Amino acid sequence: MDRHDLIWNPWHGCHKYSEGCQNCYAFFLDKRYGRDTNEVLRNKSGFDLPIKKDRAGNYKLPPASNVRVCMASDFFIEEADEWRQEAWDIIRQRPDLMFSLLTKRASRIKDHLPPDWGDGWDNVTFAVSCENQKRLEERMPYLLDVPAKHRWISLKPFIGEVRLDEYISDGGIEWVLAGGENYLGSRPLHYEWVKEVSEACERYNVKFTFGQTGNVFIRDGKETKIRSRTEQAVEALRTGLNVPPVDIEHEVQMIYAEKAAKQAAFRKRSTKAD
Ligand code: SF4
Repeated sequence: MDRHDLIWNPWHGCHKYSEGCQNCYAFFLDKRYGRDTNEVLRNKSGFDLPIKKDRAGNYKLPPASNVRVCMASDFFIEEADEWRQEAWDIIRQRPDLMFSLLTKRASRIKDHLPPDWGDGWDNVTFAVSCENQKRLEERMPYLLDVPAKHRWISLKPFIGEVRLDEYISDGGIEWVLAGGENYLGSRPLHYEWVKEVSEACERYNVKFTFGQTGNVFIRDGKETKIRSRTEQAVEALRTGLNVPPVDIEHEVQMIYAEKAAKQAAFRKRSTKAD
């Protein structure tokens, strides 16, 4: 999973579930557009996005892509029980994609798998979001108990120190992603927490990505406010905490190049609209 991932939202809406949800971006954006996030609705036009094709007959989601599922909801939320089997049927039809099913409701995964799940599908990875030690202890046993080919942990928003060792030491977790919080009222992310996680991942040969610092980053007792998402990603890279290490300057250049390309595309669209 990286910043090029595609997104599929078969349903929209959620309920705040734990302290990591305090500044949920789905609620933030819905408020801006006058939408009630607590109303969980099936996505009318995008429910079957992974099997939609363009006029030339090509899938709209190109083969070999990573697809993040339910970025404005939770794949295992109760209201979606009646639609989930259809979503599984769609996932089954695209073995050439990797679907990342992100959830905080880890206790619901095992009872809501498709009948032919067996020991897991190659094209599905479960991602459980754990914001602090309490939620890590609560959710990880469920994640590790689910039969699955792939699993990863999302420490986003990372709002409290965690001790990962016992959950990643047996090879059941492929990847750990960490990132700070954004939006109004962001809670700070401490460099020492990230370093501890990075060192644990290194010990057990687990891939670790420090994706972004969030709005408020504390290092060596000094608090820095970083508003730009681009600069948050650059600052995170420059800590050198990714496992395995990456070519930092190359990655930084890529981030700026992507930002410039997006801005150019936006300007082009705006000019056309005038
Ligand atoms: S589970 Fe995720 S989508 Fe739902 S309220 Fe919490 S942060 Fe938002």
